[in-house]
Amino acid sequence: MGCFFCGSAGSSCEKYPEGKDIFRLQCEKCGTVDFSEHVDTSKLGTLTADDRASWAEYFRGNKGKVPLIDFGNFDSIQERLRDKRDAEKLRAELQKKRG
Ligand SMILES: [Zn+2]
Repeated sequence: MGCFFCGSAGSSCEKYPEGKDIFRLQCEKCGTVDFSEHVDTSKLGTLTADDRASWAEYFRGNKGKVPLIDFGNFDSIQERLRDKRDAEKLRAELQKKRG
């Protein structure tokens, strides 16, 4: 199965063995990330390709830790990633104009 976020083939997503409603993504690029089942079913489907790339980048920055993405923090992280992307786009455009 390709990673939902970065598309890497070296990934798996399985129900966490001892978990309650946790799915664990293990990806050679994104690292290990836990998702609560609520996020898995109701939120991931709304992400655009750009969003997924931003999440993949966020996960890579987290390497070594295992973040838990749940219903409570999904939106705030998503918002932060979008803001960051918008800021980067704006900066790139300004630089272009400046020459
Ligand atoms: Zn990945």
